[in-house]
Amino acid sequence: MARMESVLGIDIGGTNIRLAQVDRELKVLRSLQVKVEEAQEGLVSFLAGAVQEFIDGGEVPVGAIGIGLPGIVSGSGEILSCPNLDPALTGVNLREILVDRFGIPVHIQKDVNFILYSESGALKQQDSAIGFYIGTGLGFAMMIKGQLITGERGFAGELGHIPLKGKSGLCGCGNTGCLELYAAGRAIAEITAQAGSDVADFFVNPAHVQDVDEWLENLTLGLVTAITILDPSLVIVGGGVANMEGFPFEKLEQEVRSRLRHPLVAKQLVVQRSTAGPLGGCLGAAMYCFDNEEVQTCV
Ligand SMILES: [Zn+2]
Repeated sequence: MARMESVLGIDIGGTNIRLAQVDRELKVLRSLQVKVEEAQEGLVSFLAGAVQEFIDGGEVPVGAIGIGLPGIVSGSGEILSCPNLDPALTGVNLREILVDRFGIPVHIQKDVNFILYSESGALKQQDSAIGFYIGTGLGFAMMIKGQLITGERGFAGELGHIPLKGKSGLCGCGNTGCLELYAAGRAIAEITAQAGSDVADFFVNPAHVQDVDEWLENLTLGLVTAITILDPSLVIVGGGVANMEGFPFEKLEQEVRSRLRHPLVAKQLVVQRSTAGPLGGCLGAAMYCFDNEEVQTCV
């Protein structure tokens, strides 16, 4: 089989869809960004059209497609749940549709899986990395010895949906009291809306000191739980909320370390801020395509 010269990495977010054609040196040859609401013909039709344009319009052939999206995807490429994108996509086998149309391998994962994949770089064959991406919800991804862990049904690592004791808020997943309702962006939006304060100032507003402490306590619980189960070498913290002014990264790290097993885990664990840029999801999807070049997903 000829080696792929380039692949198409696609990152579908709640707001933007980004596409990037990437070569083997991970150089971006072409890219495109559109708002989700501009994909008026429906996401599947839009994607098919955009992929066709990349294939037709570039000088370098596209050998595979990697797609990250904010939802749960089965091993066969069926979208099992995506309440933050378009619930009507549930049950759609996106991989099958694109493979039928373009005849090249298509890899689809939860969006944060590819972001973590792009960030763990040289570590990925030897070590284990986990990523917490705090946006509206609490995204979580884990890579153990170079393998993204997705579970038997694609639901592994749905850390935002572990139940918190004494909490009863209704979550988009259909359950109540889920962690991400109290430890991510949705909680910050609700708290500041109730107080009439500015969302962007949540971490620096003296009126919210206690709210921030409680929010951080909930988030710490999630991080400590995941780290205790997996004992990873690297923990990455990112997402839009982690980039807000005054986000208490050092305090979070301290709180987490203080509750891990001493001395080894607490001392040796490496905790880093995410360095993924806007195209991180596309690059991770592209890296995954190249790393899985021998996997024949189109037959
Ligand atoms: Zn939930």
